[in-house]
Parts: sequence; structure tokens; C-alpha cells
Amino acid sequence: MPAITATDLTKQYKDTLAVDRIAFEVREGECFGFLGPNGAGKTTTMKMIYGHSPITSGRLEVFGIDVRTRVREVKAQTGVCPQEDNLDPDFTVRRNLVVYCRYFGIDPAEAAKRSEELLEFVALREKADGPVMALSGGMKRRLVLARALLNRPRLLILDEPTTGLDPQARQVLWEKIRELRRKGTTILLTTHYMEEAAQLCDRLVIMDKAKILVKGSPAELTAKHARPTVVEVWNPPAAAEAWVKARGTPCERHGDRLYAYPDAGEALQRELVTRFNAEQVIVRRGTLEDVFLRLTGRDLRE
Ligand code: ADP
Repeated sequence: MPAITATDLTKQYKDTLAVDRIAFEVREGECFGFLGPNGAGKTTTMKMIYGHSPITSGRLEVFGIDVRTRVREVKAQTGVCPQEDNLDPDFTVRRNLVVYCRYFGIDPAEAAKRSEELLEFVALREKADGPVMALSGGMKRRLVLARALLNRPRLLILDEPTTGLDPQARQVLWEKIRELRRKGTTILLTTHYMEEAAQLCDRLVIMDKAKILVKGSPAELTAKHARPTVVEVWNPPAAAEAWVKARGTPCERHGDRLYAYPDAGEALQRELVTRFNAEQVIVRRGTLEDVFLRLTGRDLRE
């Protein structure tokens, strides 16, 4: 049985069609990503899955349970890390966990036990008796993760779990997410970081304007929608751009960069440097970020 099945899933806010008849399936035990520019409909999709936002039409099942009619059962098996850190600033770190257990009707002895286990898991034991305010951004995200795990969920939903974190804090969180996945938890993740998606997700979808554009593993999507080799030229001399075009190499210009897609990257790089004195020329493989920009465009979404 799949962990999540969505067909024709739709969400209409008053004047906004936020999710437009999307279909996807999440397998039990995989990490599944939702990527897309701001306003694509990712958070709304998450909210429908964890029963925070009623679906307008379509079907949505979590572990075979219809979210429309049996939302409490879905919530019992789901853990959620929302985008905002909605921790209680009046409580200590530990108390934030213990008190949250009440939502699930977990008895006090069990609540104390689970809280200790999870403080250990997210490496916050030493901070347990201090105020939430004293935690760094990364620690707060880890506490939110611990809180989402109190009911031992089969499905964990992470809405932009590492936004705003420094690279070290991000790495720590990735490690925890991988560990949970290894233990069999199904994980849904939204992120703006393509590297994060490529590192963590078994499969993912890219959404834009309420629709799913593509689905697949990071490797499949990169193979299908990105060029294998990219040569990036920063501030290219005008003659260089004309020359790349004239030799028939596909290329495009965005701002101060020229992107060329040759068969042989190093050869083109050498020529650009020797012929035109181009200063910053890099050769790299096509990435998920290229796929994302190609499919959703480069316009700013506020
Ligand atoms: P994403 O998470 O991909 O940034 P959202 O799901 O937050 O996208 O938003 C999708 C669209 O729905 C946006 O146009 C947004 O403005 C709109 N939207 C989100 N939440 C609400 C709401 N509570 N009421 C009305 N419109 C909303």
C-alpha cells in the first residue's frame, strides 16, 4: 500500500486556485520532495495531507485512510514540522515536548520517557532545562523535529526544514532526516534548496502555478531535463558570445552569465580562455537546479 495517494487533488481558496487537480503517489519508507517557486502550492498540499486545510475536491488517502472523513486517524500517524518555529517561548526546551504529548493523549510517564529519548536523538539534552529563547536557529529546528516525532509518526512532513540555517546546522538536520528514513519513516519534504532535494529525496515533484510539472528521482529528472554539460561564462566578452553561437553550440544568456551546452566542456572552456581572455569560465555537470530553472523560468516570484 502506498503511504499517500492523491488524485485530482484540488484546493481553491476564495479567489486563488492554489492546487489544481494534482496526482501523485508516495511509497512507504521513501523521502519524497515537493519543489517549486513561491506560491506554487507546496505548503497547501502539505496542509491538506496533514488535515490542516480541507480539500476542495479530489481524493487524498494517507496509509489508505481518506483524509476527508477520517482526519483524526491521519493526524495520529503524522508528524509535522511547519515552516514557522511555533515553539512555546514560555516553556523550557523539555517542557515544549512534554506538554505537546497531551495533544496525543500520551500519559505523563510515557511523555517523560519519549521526551528524553527525543532530546537525545536531536542532541539537545544539555539544553533541556533552558529556555527556548536560548537556542540557536538550528537547535530550534531540531526541537521542532523532536516534537514532530513524539507520536512516533509513520509519516513525517517537513516544510522547508533548513531554511535560514547555516551549513553546519543544515548538515546535522540532514543526518537526522536520513536516520529517520533508514528506520522506515516516510518523509515528505518541501525545500528551496536543490542540493537538499538531490541529497535527501528518493523521488520528487516540481510544482508551479498549482500544477505538478514533472516527477521522478533526482537522477532521472536531471538526465531527462538538464543538459549533461554546462559551461558558464561570467561577464562574457561580446565577441565570445557571438562566437559560441556561430559555432552552433546551444547557449543562453541570463544577466551577466552566458550558459553554453557543448558536447565537450573542457575544449570549449580552453577556447574561450585562449581566444577571448574570458576570465571566469567553469565547466560543470547539469544539476537539479538547471532542471528547476528550465521548467519554472527565471522570473522572480515574491
Ligand atoms: P508555496 O508553499 O508553494 O509557496 P502556497 O501553498 O503557500 O505555495 O500558496 C499557493 C497559493 O495559495 C498562493 O497564491 C498563496 O498566496 C495562496 N494561499 C496560500 N494560503 C492561503 C490562504 N490561507 N488563503 C488564501 N490564499 C492562500
